[in-house]
Amino acid sequence: MLKRVLIANRGEIALRVLRACREMGIETVAVYSEADAEALHVQLATQSVCIGPARAADSYLNQYALLTVAKATGCDGLHPGYGFLSENADFADACRREGITFIGPSGDTIRKAGSKSAARELMKTAGVPVTPGSDGPVDTVATALSAAERVGYPVLLKASAGGGGRGIRRCDGPSALPAAYAEAKAEAKACFGDDEMYLEKLVLRPRHIEFQVLADRFGNVIHLGDRDCSVQRRNQKLIEEAPARCLTPALREAMGQAAVRAARAVGYENAGTVEFLLDDNGEHFYFMEMNTRIQVEHGVTELITGVDLVRQQLRIASGLSLDMAQADVHLAGHALECRINAEDPAKNFRPCPGQVSFLHFPGGAGVRVDSCLYNGCTLSPYYDSMAAKLLVHAPTRLEAIRKMRRCLEEFTLEGFPTNAELSYQILYHPTFVRGGCTTAFLDENLPRLLDFNRRLSESEGEA
Ligand code: ADP
Ligand code: ADP
Ligand code: MG
Repeated sequence: MLKRVLIANRGEIALRVLRACREMGIETVAVYSEADAEALHVQLATQSVCIGPARAADSYLNQYALLTVAKATGCDGLHPGYGFLSENADFADACRREGITFIGPSGDTIRKAGSKSAARELMKTAGVPVTPGSDGPVDTVATALSAAERVGYPVLLKASAGGGGRGIRRCDGPSALPAAYAEAKAEAKACFGDDEMYLEKLVLRPRHIEFQVLADRFGNVIHLGDRDCSVQRRNQKLIEEAPARCLTPALREAMGQAAVRAARAVGYENAGTVEFLLDDNGEHFYFMEMNTRIQVEHGVTELITGVDLVRQQLRIASGLSLDMAQADVHLAGHALECRINAEDPAKNFRPCPGQVSFLHFPGGAGVRVDSCLYNGCTLSPYYDSMAAKLLVHAPTRLEAIRKMRRCLEEFTLEGFPTNAELSYQILYHPTFVRGGCTTAFLDENLPRLLDFNRRLSESEGEA
């Protein structure tokens, strides 16, 4: 078993990893930027080391500093969390070269899955369905135009290196393509330092359904069921749930098997997520991408399966084989997660970080809160605006919805605006209550959802 793990991340995920390590008797080394000196993960780790100034490029993305600290403090493992270096193949390779176990798949696997355009081609070969699209990258406006013509509008221009909803633009016809192409490419360059583009047919009003997979180094691959992450703003998830309500047992079986095939196709090891789009009729599903890391919304899967995914990551990285088979995975009850972000939904979701002047988290049976906030702390403007994840688990979906409403009523955060009230409205919206949200739901309903006085008149939509 690993003995000492460097946590190359911050915020709630650093805390999440730290907690799993402590429960397993693994020591932890926290790293932090100058902006995070008072962060909770720094206070709770066995040992903490400052690795540089606030800017992520100077601290959490500084590979040399991370490896130097890992070696100097005697770490035998490194957990990358999500974001930052978690999907950086060269960093995974560098860790291994230095004799430090990267808690994730190999650099080679990350490379195969990391180019979303190349991954599509690989999946086709593996018999996993993908949306119609450019076969490979589109390097010029002209090639993009002819690929779009072949595929049929509307299309989505997407960055091969994309993540977090960045570098994606919708395009409804040839006249709009040059501008959309230039915009997406510039955003990709700025966000990922890599502006390779590809395109996919836009699936109209789809659902985002993803499968959690676990794989060990002995070739055992299983999935832990699905999550519905269709409630999104700007292609970014806001509310997630497990299991997805729209899947029939047959479709769940077929998609689960496709997820396992996808993981095998890239030689997967550790915990990962295979993302699919499901069309409006719930008939066809398409591979979208594979995320080679722990996912923000992994907690809903943990709640319905009883499996601690970070613990599994640590076991697998330690060289142990999976301690469960597919037949041992049972999905019990229903789980929901609301991401609480420091942002103003009425102002185009503009991030609004600041100091927490008062904080109260909900609790009680079936409630889990993953957050690194505490009374008086500051949510830094330098990083992601996610402030907390509220999770609930109940026997049925409707009970989970009621529990989450109760949690949001209890949740109090003073100091900066959040999307909590918006999420509360969504939990009363008849479409959400019915389980009918597609990825278009939030955009289509935002004006009404932001009219916070409407809720009581719509609260009867529970039938
Ligand atoms: P998930 O895919 O786990 O649901 P998100 O897509 O919201 O979560 O991304 C999780 C975090 O990781 C966010 O902070 C996001 O900005 C960041 N992130 C995701 N992909 C990338 C990437 N390729 N490069 C940089 N940051 C990323
Ligand atoms: P990221 O790497 O940024 O997470 P994804 O490829 O996972 O990018 O896409 C993010 C979101 O964009 C999806 O959850 C979905 O809502 C939307 N999306 C992506 N591809 C398509 C498509 N072909 N048709 C419709 N929506 C799509
Ligand atoms: Mg995605």
